[in-house]
Amino acid sequence: MSKAIVTGGASGIGAAVVSLLRERGHDVVVLDRDPSDGIQVDVTDAAGVQAAVDEAASRLGGLDLVVNNAGVGAAGTVADNDDEEWHRVFDINVVGMVRVSRAALPYLRGSGDAAIVNTCSVAATAGLPQRALYSATKGAVYSLTLAMAADHVGEGIRVNAVAPGTADTPWIGRLLDAAEDPEAERAALEARQPMGRLVSAAEVAEAIVYLASATATTGTVLGVDGGMQGLRLRAP
Ligand code: NAD
Repeated sequence: MSKAIVTGGASGIGAAVVSLLRERGHDVVVLDRDPSDGIQVDVTDAAGVQAAVDEAASRLGGLDLVVNNAGVGAAGTVADNDDEEWHRVFDINVVGMVRVSRAALPYLRGSGDAAIVNTCSVAATAGLPQRALYSATKGAVYSLTLAMAADHVGEGIRVNAVAPGTADTPWIGRLLDAAEDPEAERAALEARQPMGRLVSAAEVAEAIVYLASATATTGTVLGVDGGMQGLRLRAP
């Protein structure tokens, strides 16, 4: 596994994946709407995604790993977001992954041992309050991961996902900055995870890079969430 693209690789979890892959000797091209380290592309732009994946594969001399990580948050109940917002967030978080995967598949098929790792979330299965739209997008990423694993298992392409809990990234920094009481909000997020802390971007990156090289694993969604999913803690 040596030729990788990472979407959303300019910040947070994606940037930690890029660092770890490079540290371990892999060649990586970042695809992000922020052009600071790679090819600038918005994953909602189908033609742009095709051109960016082609350009990355040309620079790398092929492709054997796709980390589908670009995503955005959305707060509120179903009463709070209109149709336009639902379409906008689905277009980034779900169809964005579909576009990148579709463009990458011809290259991955030529690899012999290829992997796609999608960034899902505990929100896919946790029933979090005030996160209806975001949770629905990550539920879609969860089922997309399983369906793609089934479709491409015969082509030497493994498809897995990580489901982070709350991870300490610029995204969460922005969320805390916007809170009325950032310290109380941070404490609440920490308390929600049985380990009593947020996970780090580096911890999520370790899991992504593990799945990229786990040659007997496909169709798995791995929690990196301080025990949130595995322990299934509920109010007594
Ligand atoms: P982040 O905001 O720090 O980084 C997201 C990156 O994605 C940015 O570089 C941004 O420019 C890029 N991006 C966003 N929309 C894009 C678009 N339309 N086209 C191209 N690039 C785009 O966020 P993060 O916390 O590192 O989140 C990364 C992934 O992890 C997301 O899919 C998110 O849903 C998921 N996740 C995060 C957490 C968390 O608590 N931070 C928890 C679970 C899942």
